[in-house]
Amino acid sequence: MPVSSPADVLVAGLGPAGRAVAARAARAGLDVIAVDPQPSRRWTATYGAWRDELPPWLPEQVTAVEVAAPAVWASGLHELTRPYRILDTARLQDCLDLDGVSVVRGMVDTIDAHSAVLSTGDRVLARYMIDARGVPAGPDRAAQTAFGRVFDDATAASALEGQQAWFMDWRRDNGTDSSDVPSFLYAMPLGGGLTLLEETCLVGRPPLTLPELQRRLDIRLAARGVAAGDSGRIEKVRFAVEGIRSEAGVVGFGARGGLMHPATGYAVATALSTADALVDAVLAGSDPQRVLWPVSARGVGALRALGLRVLLRLDAQSAAAFFDVFFDLPTEQQRAYLSGREDLAAVAGTMWTLFRRLPGPLRGAILRSVW
Ligand SMILES: Cc1cc2nc3c(=O)[nH]c(=O)nc-3n(C[C@H](O)[C@H](O)[C@H](O)COP(=O)(O)OP(=O)(O)OC[C@H]3O[C@@H](n4cnc5c(N)ncnc54)[C@H](O)[C@@H]3O)c2cc1C
Repeated sequence: MPVSSPADVLVAGLGPAGRAVAARAARAGLDVIAVDPQPSRRWTATYGAWRDELPPWLPEQVTAVEVAAPAVWASGLHELTRPYRILDTARLQDCLDLDGVSVVRGMVDTIDAHSAVLSTGDRVLARYMIDARGVPAGPDRAAQTAFGRVFDDATAASALEGQQAWFMDWRRDNGTDSSDVPSFLYAMPLGGGLTLLEETCLVGRPPLTLPELQRRLDIRLAARGVAAGDSGRIEKVRFAVEGIRSEAGVVGFGARGGLMHPATGYAVATALSTADALVDAVLAGSDPQRVLWPVSARGVGALRALGLRVLLRLDAQSAAAFFDVFFDLPTEQQRAYLSGREDLAAVAGTMWTLFRRLPGPLRGAILRSVW
């Protein structure tokens, strides 16, 4: 390099978001360059998403398991009626096909509206610059952490207590007191006879450490008759839930672009389902930033940030009370808050209904955390 004629699109970063938009853009006939320090790195994380969040173009074989009715235990049992999917990570990566993409192994140092400078000093030009470099976890950034162990289904069964999956189990058989920073059990079948049992700190600034989550998980598993020593693979989770503002003229995408839900840490399905809107904007010669962030989406983003502030203040007892009321809401209202990016009225309505139904002391604590 340098490249003389600009590509249509440069994608910085080939995580789930960058790879999705690079693959979809190339498939749509655009000339795409993608830069990542390890473009062939195989993904190992376990990705889950609500079925209705996934785009129709995603092949069925990317689903490892569908859980028809994931359960939540907050102060009591809630059986959800919204199907949840665990994705087959390798198939997901493979179906985001980079055959039509010019892949560059490298680090993007700086990026502006029409060029990116790599750490080698090379400059790459493109009409549209998409920054999907993710967000480094840092001490000032709210993050999610989790420590998980994978068991065979039979061994894990006693932790599931007859449920197919725990989307969240907030019971305190993990050795915590009511005033501790809360963590919950995420228990999901992975397919192939395996189940993931994962102690999760939904959000923290700073979040719970992995050794603390491991300690809590092993106490919980012992209480449910599962020996931690029987586990196979271990999963360690740590990622920032807050985005970074991109340079003017650069389109932030995925976690980098603030497309992660800051109060839940979910981002993969959003990246998959918004990639085509971004590609369509490029094809039409319009501003992808406007397509991704209409006024309504910015309003929803502000409400989600408010949700994050509330969650950061909850102790173990209030987290259980909070999610008890949340998961008592009709599925449509849950969906509006968990998944919707653009229906401001629906998200505001859900948050208002939730607030009104919360116990008085929790409402007071929320008001204090919001002001
Ligand atoms: C174990 C685990 C489980 C998770 N489970 C879920 C889940 O169930 N559902 C969900 O939605 N999310 C889940 N997450 C979060 C999920 O990983 C993120 O939402 C997702 O990875 C964000 O995708 P991204 O492409 O925006 O960013 P990233 O995945 O962070 O990808 C960023 C990419 O940019 C590259 N890069 C970084 N710097 C540069 C640079 N300077 N130049 C060029 N390239 C660069 C990196 O190499 C990387 O490939 C999980 C995370 C972990 C760790």
